[in-house]
Amino acid sequence: VYLGSYSGWYCVHEETFYTDTQVGEDHLCPECHRPVEKKEEAAYFFRCKKYVKELLEFFDQNPKFITPESRKNEMVNNFIKPGLNDLCVTRTSFDWGIPVKEAPGHVIYVWLDALTNYISALGYLQEDDSKFQKYWQDPKTEIVHVIGADITRFHTIYWPMFLDALKLRKPTRIFVHGLMMMKDGKMSKSKGNVIPVPPLVEHFGVDAVRYYLAREITFGQNGEFTPEQFVERLNMDLANNFGNLLNRTMGMIGKYFDGVIPAFDGDKNELDRNLTELAKKTVALYETLNDDLKVTEAYASVMDLVDAANKYIQASEPWNMAKDETKKDELASCMSHLANVLFLTGTLLSPILVTKTESLFDQLNVPNELRNYESAVAFGKLGGVSIRKATPLFPRLDAAKEVEFIKELMAAPKEKAAA
Ligand SMILES: [Zn+2]
Repeated sequence: VYLGSYSGWYCVHEETFYTDTQVGEDHLCPECHRPVEKKEEAAYFFRCKKYVKELLEFFDQNPKFITPESRKNEMVNNFIKPGLNDLCVTRTSFDWGIPVKEAPGHVIYVWLDALTNYISALGYLQEDDSKFQKYWQDPKTEIVHVIGADITRFHTIYWPMFLDALKLRKPTRIFVHGLMMMKDGKMSKSKGNVIPVPPLVEHFGVDAVRYYLAREITFGQNGEFTPEQFVERLNMDLANNFGNLLNRTMGMIGKYFDGVIPAFDGDKNELDRNLTELAKKTVALYETLNDDLKVTEAYASVMDLVDAANKYIQASEPWNMAKDETKKDELASCMSHLANVLFLTGTLLSPILVTKTESLFDQLNVPNELRNYESAVAFGKLGGVSIRKATPLFPRLDAAKEVEFIKELMAAPKEKAAA
C-alpha cells in the first residue's frame, strides 16, 4: 500500500466523487445535475500490479476457482488484460469508514475493509483466533463464496490479491449466481414488472417460492419469471407429482394395512429392485450435483425419483395384489418401498421444503431418531409405525386465479407489499 493521489469529478453538493462515465460529456453530477469539478485528494492505493502474475497463475492451477467459467473469462478479458489499475483504498473527503491510525484524516472505505470481514469476523489477528484457524487456515476447510454477479471483480481479483499480500490462503471456490429476469428485461419499478416477494411468500408459502427459485433458476444463469410458469411449476411438481405420491401412498397404507407401514424386507420383484436401485443412484447423483452447487439439477433428480415412484404404483398395480392372497408379501413390499421413497425424497428436498417436509414426516410418523440424512439415504429404515392423518401438502392451485393474483401484485407492488 502506498500514498498517492485520487482524482475524480467532485460535486460539492453531495461531497462525492464521480467517475468519467458517471458525469458524462457535460460533466454534470448524476445525483443533483449540478456542474462537477475535477479534484484531487491524497489517498492510499493497493499495488495490484505486484500480484497480477500470481493471480493468473492461480486461476490456471485452479480451473474451478471461479464458476461459471464465463465469469472468469470476463474478469481476465475485461479487467486484467487491459491493465489493472491500482486500487484506491482510503479517502479523505468524508469520514464514514475505518479511520487509519497511522494517517489521521484517512478512512479505509469499502472493499478493502468489506472483504477483510471474512477473516476479521473469524478472529484474524485477535486474541482468540480459533475460528479463524479452523474455518480459514485449516487446509481441510473448503471455503466457498456464493456471490452476485455485480461483485465478481472484488471477490475474484482484489480479494485473492489482498490474501496474497497477507500470505493467507485463498478461498477454494467462488460461485457467481445469476439474476432473476422478467420477460421484458430486468425488474424495475418504472416498467411495472417488479415481483414483491413478501406477499408472494405469504400467499404461496415460503417452501413453494423457494422450490420455484431452486428449480427454475439454473445456477450461474439468469432466470426468467412469468406468473404462468410459476403456477405451472408448483402444480406440476409439488401438487401433482410429489403431493400425489403422498396421497396415494397414505390412502393405500390406510386401506390395505390398517394404517401401519409394513416393515421393509428387501425387494420382492423386479419393480422393487429397479426402484431401490434408482433411489440409491439418486442419492449419489444428488450429492455430486450439490457439491458442484448444481442445485437445480440436484432437485430435478429428486423429482425424477418421485415421478418414477408414481409410475411404480401404476406398474405394480397394488389394487390387484390386494385381491390375491399369494401376493400379500409383494403388496407389503410395495407399500414399504413407497413410504421409504417419500421419506427419502422428503429428506433430500428438506433444504428447500423446510416446513412441508416436517409435515410429511409427521404424517408418515417418522420416529425422531430417524429424522436425519443418514437414516433416510440408508433406504428401508422406515416401517412398523402407524401413519397419521393425511393432509395435502400442496393443494392444487387454480391456475387462472393465481396468475391473476400475481399480475395484480406486479401492477401495484407498493400498495400490495404494504397491505
Ligand atoms: Zn451533486
